[in-house]
Amino acid sequence: MQTISAEKKSLNELYRQLILDHAKCPKNFGKQANSSHFAEGINPLCGDKIRIYVHVGKDNFIDQLSFEGTGCAISIASSSIMTTLLLKQDINYAEHYAKNLIMMLNNKEENTDEFKSSSQIEALKGVKEFPSRIKCATLGWQSFLSAINNKNTTTTEKL
Ligand code: ZN
Repeated sequence: MQTISAEKKSLNELYRQLILDHAKCPKNFGKQANSSHFAEGINPLCGDKIRIYVHVGKDNFIDQLSFEGTGCAISIASSSIMTTLLLKQDINYAEHYAKNLIMMLNNKEENTDEFKSSSQIEALKGVKEFPSRIKCATLGWQSFLSAINNKNTTTTEKL
């Protein structure tokens, strides 16, 4: 029988693997020629640079969502996870979701109900143990919000 801490450790290992898999083989990676919304996000502290391409269809659903860029494993994995969770979603729902996720990672809100079912979100939450990496994890989400609000550049630091 596993002790609770051993169980937690193997779960952490599972989440760590999920992040590494997304970083190695990011989903929805690539440029979109016909995006309706675009933004580039920069995290100067780590050197992460992410470009987000969104296409919103007539019915207000996100019918295309992709990203490209360079950065650390966490920034790439988080952006990859973002695209898989928000693609095909209603734009208003996606905006709400992204805002909540950023607040949650910054410990500003403990309303995590809507995130419970996703192992990808659980994996991202692991970054909270490393405060200096939270900006890596939120960069893709922040860039998504900038894109849909027609702000074409964003940075994690105030210039
Ligand atoms: Zn980073």
